[in-house]
Amino acid sequence: SDVAGKETGWLAWYADNQVQLLGWARDPADGTRYGVELEMAAVLSRLAPSFAGGTEPYALLDGDGRIVFQSGAIATGAVPVVTVPVGAVLPHWQVGAYVSGGPAGATRGTFLLLTGLQVGLFVLAIVLGGSLLLWQAHRHWKDAARKTSFVSNVSHELKTPLTSIRMYAEMLAEGRVRDDAKRGEYLKVIVDQSQRLTRLVNNVLDFSRLEQRRRAYRPEPFDLCEAVGEAVESQRTRLQEAGLRVESALPGAPCPVVADRDAVTQAVLNILDNAAKYAAGGGELRVEFSADEKACRARFLDRGPGIPPAHRARLFEQFYRVDDSLSAKQPGCGLGLSIARRMMRDLGGDVRFGPREGGGAVFEIELPREGAGT
Ligand code: ADP
Repeated sequence: SDVAGKETGWLAWYADNQVQLLGWARDPADGTRYGVELEMAAVLSRLAPSFAGGTEPYALLDGDGRIVFQSGAIATGAVPVVTVPVGAVLPHWQVGAYVSGGPAGATRGTFLLLTGLQVGLFVLAIVLGGSLLLWQAHRHWKDAARKTSFVSNVSHELKTPLTSIRMYAEMLAEGRVRDDAKRGEYLKVIVDQSQRLTRLVNNVLDFSRLEQRRRAYRPEPFDLCEAVGEAVESQRTRLQEAGLRVESALPGAPCPVVADRDAVTQAVLNILDNAAKYAAGGGELRVEFSADEKACRARFLDRGPGIPPAHRARLFEQFYRVDDSLSAKQPGCGLGLSIARRMMRDLGGDVRFGPREGGGAVFEIELPREGAGT
């Protein structure tokens, strides 16, 4: 009566506490009914291939909740997070899905992997933190060493010219120098050394003003070639005495700029001072100019040792010296180039270094051309 009006059908039957699957078919010609009992083992063997693969574990559970088939690793006693009834053909049977890696489903392998990862992260954090602390300590130590070296260098630079000035001035004051030529020579030493003192004090003052952003600029229109030429002329004798033959290439066109003339002169003096200190052995210092519609440039080319590639990136840093040891042959405190660049950048320009073809260094001062809109 259950299947009245149907030609074929299935019935699930409980006998001996086990599900029995019965199938039937009716011959429409004479109304004869045929029945079959399906072997449960045959049904299960057909279902087996469906329980393979898949990313999350799942299982077929019989009427008593026992796992008949499973896909993936399921821990003993694990409870499915969701179950779906198979249907009327297998009443009370269910398909259950489990969560992998959860507290109940975590296998030994997953547990070890997670613990290993945690320990690894912990060690990594310690190593990274330790390296950061070491790096900071190293940086502070280097900063402190540089400042000490700066103070020693400045004191040394102040002391040397002061000693000469005092010695020659005392000799002149005591009237011990009778020879006029000698007297002139001593007076020249005094003038040169006081100029050296002025340059140093100006640099230190500029440094502290730039640091505190108190350096005020007074822009005015002038010709860059003329200002550079004037600064070179003021140093010509000193450069010649150092062993440098100064050649100035005349500018092909005017180089009009609007900038702080004192700042430009200071930058030029620092570059010339370096040429006298480090590149005198090369015997030559060439000054060139160029201008286009955007910028005007003054270039200083020497034949000294140049700057080794490893030092070029840090050349313009404060206190940076290629030979930083206190016993360095040339006096200096590593401020000249950093000040020159800071000031030219404040004025919309720059100071750059480049190696010179055939050996030596090229320092270039660039400023925006008057009216170029910078
Ligand atoms: P200082 O001359 O006081 O050391 P600077 O900032 O002026 O500081 O220069 C930084 C360093 O660059 C110098 O110590 C020197 O080693 C190097 N240097 C600068 N100009 C030249 C040059 N023309 N040739 C070779 N080395 C140079």
